[in-house]
Amino acid sequence: ELRVTAVHKSFGPVRALRGADLTVRSGTLMAVLGPSGSGKTTLLRCIAGFEPVDAGEIRLDGQQIAASGRTVRPERRRIAVVPQEGALFPHLPVRGNVAYGLDRHSRRTGRVESVLALVGLAGFEDRMPHHLSGGQQQRVAVARALAPHPRVVLLDEPFSALDAALRTAVRQDVRRALRADGATAVLVTHDQAEALSVADEVAVMHDGRIVQSGPPDLVYSAPADPWVAGFVGEAV
Ligand code: ATP
Repeated sequence: ELRVTAVHKSFGPVRALRGADLTVRSGTLMAVLGPSGSGKTTLLRCIAGFEPVDAGEIRLDGQQIAASGRTVRPERRRIAVVPQEGALFPHLPVRGNVAYGLDRHSRRTGRVESVLALVGLAGFEDRMPHHLSGGQQQRVAVARALAPHPRVVLLDEPFSALDAALRTAVRQDVRRALRADGATAVLVTHDQAEALSVADEVAVMHDGRIVQSGPPDLVYSAPADPWVAGFVGEAV
């Protein structure tokens, strides 16, 4: 379980996070939804360990990984990050990209092949990234993120560079892969339809806080306040 409690983070005068609370149960996919500038990327960066927090704390499976004056280094958190695009090493084939950071035992026991199969790319091991479509590249990025069995997978607008038709197909495959692998994941998006279609739960962010979270249908049918109603209402 990932638990973010009352996290504050400022950049000079800009208060990007103002007491953000978020709980993501193990094995579930949480979509964090909100307008531009609401703090979504900053929240992910604090969870990943790329930014220290000013106040509040972040716990992973009970272990404190961030608090004021305390930061467990990103590489020691066992958290994987899938960025918007450009995540692959261009000079390595798919196998090398997915195996990057895996120990020898995992490589030998077929973890590369099994995560590629999960994202629908069985048999693509020897392809070079520039011989893949944008959607296939993002699937490889997800396979690489899952390969070492991270405690949490963070996805920051991972489908935003894809065209609309491809985006729908890729996000369904990625959701299936995360599920099949039992991953705990947080997906940031400003696309309401995307959040509704892929997530087990959604959290709506506004001005540096999570203003409501819960199953998508609940947030849509019973918004906590007029602002949430207006924001999620834009999707329908
Ligand atoms: P978007 O959907 O546009 O990516 P977001 O919800 O991810 O937006 P953040 O990128 O987290 O929002 O930004 C929240 C606020 O913090 C914004 O006002 C932004 O300008 C500011 N901010 C983020 N990172 C920095 C930084 N490194 N230095 C200064 N200000 C920053």
